[in-house]
Amino acid sequence: MNKKLMGLAVAALYASGAWAASMQTFVVNVGQGDGVLLQTPGGKRIVIDGGPTTSATSAFQAFLDKKLVSTVNVMVLTHPHTDHVYGLTTTLQRKVVQSVYDPKQSYSSTAYTNFKNAVLAEKCPYIKSYSGDSYSWDSALTIKCLNARSNVTDANNASVALRIVNGAKTLHFSGDTPTSDAQNLEEANYASSLPARF
Ligand SMILES: [Zn+2]
Repeated sequence: MNKKLMGLAVAALYASGAWAASMQTFVVNVGQGDGVLLQTPGGKRIVIDGGPTTSATSAFQAFLDKKLVSTVNVMVLTHPHTDHVYGLTTTLQRKVVQSVYDPKQSYSSTAYTNFKNAVLAEKCPYIKSYSGDSYSWDSALTIKCLNARSNVTDANNASVALRIVNGAKTLHFSGDTPTSDAQNLEEANYASSLPARF
């Protein structure tokens, strides 16, 4: 395994932009599912989900290579559906990953098992997310977990939902959390008042 290899393919970029002074968020067009890269004011790389393919030349892997990402400081799996987890397994195999967050829902699939095995192989902290958690991934940011559940029938309802505040700007990443879910009152209340939502 050579984690330093850089791909040459150019990612299809859905959206990107400067965020406050030095925060950048990139939402890669991975087809179905999500694949997000955040570059924080303190220079940390945060990856949220990885798209639906394990290909090392997929749009998501190619974009990480294009941005010269060799180390992922924080990896977040919002929930274990294949269109979110597949690419993260590949990223774990190709990059240095320093920490992984996951609601650790009770969910059985080959894709999720492969992901968990890749985390074990990485020997990095593997942390269960809980609703209400706060994360100090970058001192310039205020990051709160608004939703994360492990005992739900539909994996979408387990999704880690993050509110990331950078000065006057707020972004919201919620995986496949249904806003109509009456149990996600905190999530739904915030969603209606935020300027951006993913
Ligand atoms: Zn889903």
